[in-house]
Amino acid sequence: MNASTPNDPNAVIECQNLGRNFTIGRGLFAEKKTLRAVQDVNLKVQRGEVLAVVGESGCGKTTLAKMLLGLLPPSTGDIYFEGEPLQNVDRHSIARRVQPVFQDPYSSLNPRKTLASIIALPLNVHNVGTSEERKKRVEEIMEMVGLPRRLLYSYPSQLSGGQRQRVAIARALVMKPEVLICDEPTSALDVSVQAQILNLLQDLRKELNLTYVFISHNLAVVEHMADQLAVMYLGRLIEYGASSEVFANPRHPYTKMLLNSVLTPDPSLGLPGSASDGDFPNPLDPPSGCVFHPRCAECMPQCMTTLPGILQDDKGLVECHLYTETAANAA
Ligand code: SF4
Repeated sequence: MNASTPNDPNAVIECQNLGRNFTIGRGLFAEKKTLRAVQDVNLKVQRGEVLAVVGESGCGKTTLAKMLLGLLPPSTGDIYFEGEPLQNVDRHSIARRVQPVFQDPYSSLNPRKTLASIIALPLNVHNVGTSEERKKRVEEIMEMVGLPRRLLYSYPSQLSGGQRQRVAIARALVMKPEVLICDEPTSALDVSVQAQILNLLQDLRKELNLTYVFISHNLAVVEHMADQLAVMYLGRLIEYGASSEVFANPRHPYTKMLLNSVLTPDPSLGLPGSASDGDFPNPLDPPSGCVFHPRCAECMPQCMTTLPGILQDDKGLVECHLYTETAANAA
């Protein structure tokens, strides 16, 4: 594999061996530590697809999203956008073609601005069209996301949570991007509103042929939306494949644990995404061997000392000794 070329030039986004480290100082005289927030991630997204990235808080999914948006340079590896190394693509071009939708519509919208000026902001920044054309585009996009025109000069504080997230989506779409990076776009909303926003995102994707990278801690949220599913744990991509396949036949014990916590009606097993089998480890002091071993119901002696290899087959990718052993035995 040549690290300077994409494996799949048709993919809208491709990550090769992507990693991001942070140096963390812990007090004046304490030794600095390296936090490996994302490690060796390989994945790709085709046009019109939804790639869901799931995992608990601290697994590296938001760091991954920031790298895909060009907001954070990778420490290792490469990102390709439509076959071009991301660092070679003009920043304005990335900002036009890849847009974020963030988790919290309360803090991501300026409370002192009207909807008209919030949604028009990207058009103003990129100097697109006359003021009349911008107003027309804002009205068009408001209609598309289900915001009545009478709200044009309202302020965010006058809107419901669902309406605010519709404003955030309108602002993301006003420049006609190709890709949306949605970072937990429904987790700050009431359950009843979440479904409306997910349906809206689905409809917009079909209508505008958008590509989504959809970040969530909750597998239930992405089940009906994702074409590809990437499961992250402590910065590592531990399972990846077609969403239908991973949901039907999860292989990694962590994916099974996440799915159990979503699908069970037993409240003692915890909220979706807050798996109950032990605590999430300290990312600054990760466990030896397989980083999931302290919480794994299928842990074997080698798991405590040796990082598992990766099995990549027609079902996708899994990083676990259960499968690399099987592969070795079968060979
Ligand atoms: Fe569990 Fe071992 Fe697989 Fe890690 S490598 S997930 S500890 S079985």
